[in-house]
Amino acid sequence: MSDVTRPKGPKIIAVANQKGGVGKTTTTINLAAALAALGKTVLIVDIDPQGNASTGLGVEQARRQRTTYDLLLDEAPLNQVIRATGVEGLLISPATTDLSSADIEMVSNEKRSFLLHDALRQPAIDGYGFDYILIDCPPSLNLLTVNAMVAAHSVLVPLQSEFFALEGLSQLMLTIRELRQTANPNLRIEGIVLTMYDKRNNLSQLVENDARANLGELVFDTVIPRNVRLSEAPSFAMSVLDYDSGSRGAEAYRALAAELIEKSTPVGA
Ligand code: ADP
Ligand code: MG
Repeated sequence: MSDVTRPKGPKIIAVANQKGGVGKTTTTINLAAALAALGKTVLIVDIDPQGNASTGLGVEQARRQRTTYDLLLDEAPLNQVIRATGVEGLLISPATTDLSSADIEMVSNEKRSFLLHDALRQPAIDGYGFDYILIDCPPSLNLLTVNAMVAAHSVLVPLQSEFFALEGLSQLMLTIRELRQTANPNLRIEGIVLTMYDKRNNLSQLVENDARANLGELVFDTVIPRNVRLSEAPSFAMSVLDYDSGSRGAEAYRALAAELIEKSTPVGA
């Protein structure tokens, strides 16, 4: 609905998969950092009570007085919530464990699925000039994830290159289809990105072949390799681009950012 009135607003992408440990947060942080390195202005909305994206980007607890929780349930002004990160051009709406109760508190709200949608469409967002908003979802298809998918133009799905990876996908696709029939008719799938890919492992190749055969063009050409630099970077509160710019992990996320920009449909198209 707001696309018509704000055709030049930020492109909002929910990074979602109800499985934990598949690379949602790693993808959110590093894709965002790679987009910022290409000159884009990017906001991460951390909507996972674990707050891993906030921690991984060095937003210490003292700078999390107001969080995504307040955006959802307290109508907090954006400038009280949004924080700078160590990456130029990358800002974040941080999360704390407060968010774990938000799920329940939202249930009684009649606009419960639209709280993030409305928060991200308040006029003050224009002042930031965001090109992209990436929402780091919790490992669940709960009301927080629904809020992310209702707020979003598209969903980006990290898929871990391991056995059973595709199984969980059907539930996610069903949720997306349901939202298209109800709260968000224009929701698209931005793409599926294979993560933790190990080309020496036959299983990775099997999962890739399977994904490309079944999901075709939805699968990004870029695959994210298993790379220890990606798992080390957050403990230094850095994106992998700053932690080890020449690593295979950094290269992969730069390629993913370029592919995303090249392929993605503009907002309102
Ligand atoms: P999710 O947000 O889906 O739960 P994370 O992004 O937190 O998943 O990743 C789970 C774990 O795997 C983390 O410890 C992370 O550092 C590690 N990890 C993620 N992607 C990679 C990768 N490509 N190579 C190596 N380790 C990775
Ligand atoms: Mg996570």
